[in-house]
Amino acid sequence: MAFELPDLPYAHDALASKGMSQETMEYHHDIHHNAYVVNGNKLIAGTEWEGKSLEDIITGTYDASAVAQNGIFNNASQHWNHMQFWEMMGAGSNDMPSELEAALKESFGSVDAFKDQFSAAGAGQFGSGWCWLVKDTDGGLKVTKTENGVNPLCFGQTALLGCDVWEHSYYIDFRNKRPAYLANFLDNLVNWENVASRL
Ligand code: FE
Repeated sequence: MAFELPDLPYAHDALASKGMSQETMEYHHDIHHNAYVVNGNKLIAGTEWEGKSLEDIITGTYDASAVAQNGIFNNASQHWNHMQFWEMMGAGSNDMPSELEAALKESFGSVDAFKDQFSAAGAGQFGSGWCWLVKDTDGGLKVTKTENGVNPLCFGQTALLGCDVWEHSYYIDFRNKRPAYLANFLDNLVNWENVASRL
């Protein structure tokens, strides 16, 4: 199944008042995400991966021992990562469903402690990558960070929340201030209903 760029689940300017501008969306979704789709389709054409599900391509091409992942993995995983990322944000209310709040308190002690760990993971990822809230294989919640396009699927984890810390995600709106971008993401942009639906 060929990769396809999905429309954003909201207008390009829907998050502008919350700190993610229309210009960022035009670059990030229309150009960067689209490039992963176009390049991924070129790379899988005529290979054993053509016709496989996106998840199967990601888990099948991830190489835990490699210093750098190959092009098929990188484009497939970044396509998946960005589809999750758009859905994990929203223009609506930032209220957190009570079951998610309870799960965060159980695993991290408090919602603020979770946010601190998540922000520290994102700020501490050297170079490009992602920080995540995942449900681990033992069912517990955990904060992780991954380099480049690597994502929780590679480790059998469920991605509950992910934040893109590649510079293309924040340089227009926050310049070099990644920690400010992460704080704004957690306080204003996350669609906690979507996060809770992944539990
Ligand atoms: Fe990105």
